[in-house]
Amino acid sequence: MSFQNPVFIPGPTNIPESLRKACDMPTIDHRSPLFATILHPARDGVARVIKTTKAQIFIFPCSGTGGWEATISNTLSPGDTVLAARNGMFSHKWIDMCQRFGLNVLIEDVAWGDGLPVDRFAKRLADDTNHTIKAVLATHNETATGVVSDIAGVRKALDAADHPALFFVDGVSSIGSMDFRFDEWGVDAAVTGSQKGFMLPAGLAIVGVSEKAMQARETATLPRTFFSFDDMLAGYGANAYPYTPSVGLLNGLNEACKMLLDEGLDAVFARHHRIAEGVRAAVQAWGMDLCATAPNLYSNTVTAIRTPDGFDASTIVAHAAETYGVAFGTGLGDVAGKVFRIGHLGSLTDVMALSGIATAEMCMADLGLDIQLGSGVAAAQEYYRANGAAGTRMAAE
Ligand SMILES: *Cc1c(COP(=O)(O)O)cnc(C)c1O
Repeated sequence: MSFQNPVFIPGPTNIPESLRKACDMPTIDHRSPLFATILHPARDGVARVIKTTKAQIFIFPCSGTGGWEATISNTLSPGDTVLAARNGMFSHKWIDMCQRFGLNVLIEDVAWGDGLPVDRFAKRLADDTNHTIKAVLATHNETATGVVSDIAGVRKALDAADHPALFFVDGVSSIGSMDFRFDEWGVDAAVTGSQKGFMLPAGLAIVGVSEKAMQARETATLPRTFFSFDDMLAGYGANAYPYTPSVGLLNGLNEACKMLLDEGLDAVFARHHRIAEGVRAAVQAWGMDLCATAPNLYSNTVTAIRTPDGFDASTIVAHAAETYGVAFGTGLGDVAGKVFRIGHLGSLTDVMALSGIATAEMCMADLGLDIQLGSGVAAAQEYYRANGAAGTRMAAE
C-alpha cells in the first residue's frame, strides 16, 4: 500500500497535513487550564457542525461504536423497547448492541440498498398509544450500502404520533460531510467518530445529547461506568476528564472543526455533493448499478457499486490494494462480494476523486469486466468541469 495515494474507504478518511500536525503534541497536563483551551473549543466546534445550541457534547476516547453504547447505557433500562430499521451492516450492528444490552428491539427490516422506512416507523409510532417505545434509532447514512435516510421524516413521524420516544441518530458517516440539523430535527442523541467527516485518526466517539436525553439518565438503569455522562460532566466542570483524555486527538478535533467552519458548512456539503455526483456519473458510464435503489437515497459520502452477477466484487478491492496501492471499501454482510465501495468523504478534492475513479477502472479492466478505460473518468471530468471544480478551494493545508 502506498502512503502517497489517498484512501477511498468510507473511514478512516484522508488526514490533512494540518490535522496530523495538530494531533502531534507534546504531553500536557490534562488537569491544567491549558487543557481547557482545547477541550471546550472542540466541544463548541462540534456543536456548530451538528447545528445545535442546546446539546451537551461528550467526547469519549474510543471509536464511534462507543458513542452508540454511551447513548444507550445512559438513557435506557433493561427490557426497554426501541424501534430500529436494519438496512445495512451498521444499522445491524447497532441493533445487535441493543439486544446485547437486553433491550427489546422492534426491527423494521428493509432491503440493503433501501432507506429507513419512514412510513412503517410512522405506523408503529401511531399504533404505540401506550408509549412502550422508549427510543427510535436511525442510521443517517448507511455506510455499507451508500444510502442516506430521511431523518427529518422520522422526526415528523414522531411528532405526528405525538410520541415521546427519544430519537437517536447514528451520524458517523454523515456528520461533517452532509447536512446534520440536531436542533431542527429534534435529535436526542447524535453519534459520530473522529475518523470520518472530521478527517482525524480513529479514537474519539463524539456524542451530542439533548436536554431530554440528559433527563432520561436520571431514571435509566442500564449500567454505565466508562461512558457515564454524569462522570464526564463532572470532569468537564473541572476542565478535565474522569480519566485520561486523548489530548492530541482533541486538539485535532478543535482544528478540524475550525477547518470545516472556515471552509463553510454549506461549501463542505456542496463539495461532498459535487464529488459524489462525479463518482455516480462514472458508475453510470460504466453501465453499473448503485446499491442504493433510488436517487433520493444516494449518499454523498460513500458509493456502493453493484458488480455483475457471478463476479466477486471483493476481488476489485484486493486487486486495487495489491496492484495499485489504493484502498476501496469492500462489501459487508448481505452485500459481501456483490458490491465494492468508493468512499468520498472528508479531505477530498475532485482531483483526488478522479484518481480513485481511474484506479477502479484499471482494476475492473484487469479483472476482465467489460469496462472502457477512461469512460468513468471522462464522465466525472465533465461533471466537475461543469460544476465549478476549478473555483473550488479545499480548506488550506
Ligand atoms: C464507521 C461507522 C460506525 C462505527 O464506527 P467505529 O468508529 O468504527 O466504531 C458506525 N456507524 C456508521 C454509520 C459508520 O459508518
